[in-house]
Amino acid sequence: MEDIIRGTCVDYTFDGKGIIKYNNEVIFVPDVLINEQVKVRVYKKEKNYYLGEVTKYYTKSENRVEPSCPYFNDCGGCHLLHMNYTEQLRFKEKHVQNCINRIGGIDKVVLPIIGMENPYRYRNKVQVSFSKDYKGNVIGGFYKEKTHQIIDNECCLLENEVAEEVISFFKSLIKKYDIEPFDRSSNQGTIRHLLVRTGYYSKEIMVVIITKSKFLPKQNLLIQELIKKFPNIVSIIHNVNEGRTNMILGNTEKCIYGKTYIEDTLCGLKFKISSKSFYQVNPTQTEKLYNEAIKAANLTKEDNIIDAYSGIGTIGLIASKHVNSVVGVEIVKEAIINAQNNARLNNITNAKYFIDDASKFMINYIKNNKADVVFVDPPRSGLDKKFVESILLSKPERVVYVSCDPSSLARDIKLLKEEYDIISIQPVDMFPNTMHVETIVLLCLKDANK
Ligand code: SAH
Repeated sequence: MEDIIRGTCVDYTFDGKGIIKYNNEVIFVPDVLINEQVKVRVYKKEKNYYLGEVTKYYTKSENRVEPSCPYFNDCGGCHLLHMNYTEQLRFKEKHVQNCINRIGGIDKVVLPIIGMENPYRYRNKVQVSFSKDYKGNVIGGFYKEKTHQIIDNECCLLENEVAEEVISFFKSLIKKYDIEPFDRSSNQGTIRHLLVRTGYYSKEIMVVIITKSKFLPKQNLLIQELIKKFPNIVSIIHNVNEGRTNMILGNTEKCIYGKTYIEDTLCGLKFKISSKSFYQVNPTQTEKLYNEAIKAANLTKEDNIIDAYSGIGTIGLIASKHVNSVVGVEIVKEAIINAQNNARLNNITNAKYFIDDASKFMINYIKNNKADVVFVDPPRSGLDKKFVESILLSKPERVVYVSCDPSSLARDIKLLKEEYDIISIQPVDMFPNTMHVETIVLLCLKDANK
């Protein structure tokens, strides 16, 4: 491979880099769109591909846009700000299609991706990290991609605007009261992160202050200043994270103002959300996602359903009025407490929740019970083999798989397809401007009517 080549971008990698083919080799190059002709400096050989960078554009795509964020090249949050939204959607739909075909070995065309009307400012949960720059000034923002170097950013196009104001004000408070930010290299200092959660409909705000120390200096002053400036703050939590860890939240926390949760509405139901519970970050797209998942399941009043990886109970509770019973399982205790309270809050009496590993739970559950429909919504790693086995053994009539990673999804449905027909594959853009994409797959038991 020469050091400098000229080529045309023919496709994208899973994270939105351009793919250029040259003499039967492939080169992955950031910031190139399909059909663009570029000069590339090839700087590294990996096992099956090369890495390169553009040194000149001979032609530019009509789908190229000027990134609307000054931090785009450094920050690891967005990957696709150089593509217009139509191209982003095309890229995601094709990525899901490729995974289904190549990893899943499934010859089925995915449905057109469901995009977002206004693909900015959607994140209802924002977390930033604090540190000091080399001059000793307090800085706060996101990590530079694949590093622990903090970019001092005041603005993020994905963040809810109010959360951005809260973060900026909090930064001014730690400067004003001279509270030390945490320094990763020396493992010293106090303020590690700030997490802000906002209710889309309720407008309620939760602020979580994460410190290295057990003690939060100037606690009362911080509370008074925050609630005076932002009357919608209904919950302030002090979370302690003493470890040398990449995790944001530590194990111990205390509510230092207001409630331990915020409330919001989703698909017409109310939900209590606490600091440690998973809650989808894009509320308008989540409503579309859940409505599609429930529509796909074609539920009836006789159905007994399982909501596995339930979080705070969203999918199962929204489905509850269409079915006979709901059983939810989730590994995080706080989320299950939220789920139980959420059932009560909405006068739902046909839903039960269990704290457990989803696979362990399923293996026991199927010994004495049978579900008609199983909803699964696992983390990126997908389902573990035991969970898949429990489905193949117990044979629920329908499985609705909600996935945030097309490759683990394709791996899992490849195992399920022996017993199940893949009826529909619906991608949904939950995370515009990033490489991530959500997918709903409906699987129906092959011999359901026999
Ligand atoms: N269905 C929910 C949550 C989906 S996120 C919603 O849409 O809001 C995935 C959830 O799986 C998280 O709440 C996470 O805590 C949970 N989880 C992760 N590993 C798990 C396991 N092994 N068993 C059960 N739940 C698990």
